[in-house]
Amino acid sequence: MPHRERQHWAEVMRRQLERRRARTQPSDARLQQRANALNLKLFGGRLSWSSIGYAEMNHLWGSCTFTEGSIRISKRASSLPEWVIDYLLVHEMAHLEHSAHGPEFHEMENLYPLAERARGYLLALDSSTGGA
Ligand SMILES: [Zn+2]
Repeated sequence: MPHRERQHWAEVMRRQLERRRARTQPSDARLQQRANALNLKLFGGRLSWSSIGYAEMNHLWGSCTFTEGSIRISKRASSLPEWVIDYLLVHEMAHLEHSAHGPEFHEMENLYPLAERARGYLLALDSSTGGA
């Protein structure tokens, strides 16, 4: 293969790899986008937060600091189906208004139609991986 052609194919393959990596990398921008959509659809757009993104977390699927309004979703969750990630977002978003898992919290969380199913999914997943 002539040198120029080899270079061309090396370039094509490099770009393909980059695209694949971009697809599998957890994207904070995408998370933010989904949170905005869920906020509008379920909460009439009334929620606001200071930041949202993926973070390394070993034991939790997500976290929300009630006072600062910063939402973190575990990087482990980025490979889950999108409807489960949406549930995790809704859960953390509900914490923006209620710090504890009380009845009002659950009322907000359950505005997401697949909340019950997602809870079951995560429970099954947690028990199959030894709760890790
Ligand atoms: Zn919670």
